[in-house]
Amino acid sequence: MIHVGIGYDVHQLVTGRKLILGGVEIPHDKGLDGHSDADALMHAVCDAVLGAIGEGDIGQFFPNTDPRWKDAPSRIFLEEAARQVKERNGRIVNVDATLVAERPKMMPHVDAMKANIAAALGLSVKKVGIKATTNETMGFVGREEGIPAMAVASIDLPEEAEED
Ligand code: MG
Repeated sequence: MIHVGIGYDVHQLVTGRKLILGGVEIPHDKGLDGHSDADALMHAVCDAVLGAIGEGDIGQFFPNTDPRWKDAPSRIFLEEAARQVKERNGRIVNVDATLVAERPKMMPHVDAMKANIAAALGLSVKKVGIKATTNETMGFVGREEGIPAMAVASIDLPEEAEED
């Protein structure tokens, strides 16, 4: 039975931090602020996967008060989400995500982001979609105060898992 999940995340753009999205360090004059590496794209994908299996969000698995996750690479959050799926004998069918940012240009990095997310989830790269768009200069994205990401995940779970 196919289950779907949705994920959304946003982190603030600040000076003095690396900009890491989809596990790719992108050259930019600002980076995303957060307890971990603040990879909003991976966090959104992680929440989509966890949502599809009816689990709590990324913060419940990896509290941002826990020093273990300070500056942690978000790949480990995705690996844990994939492990949770496997534990339920589930199979991730695909994930799809959208980044919203005025700058920098994301397109040159999209293939590397897909490869990183696919590797962390144990998926073929063809099962990972990533798009990037601007916010047409409007709002907090337009003012370059932060970068949001949204994602969906489709997961095939065995029937017995539904009877919990
Ligand atoms: Mg986050």
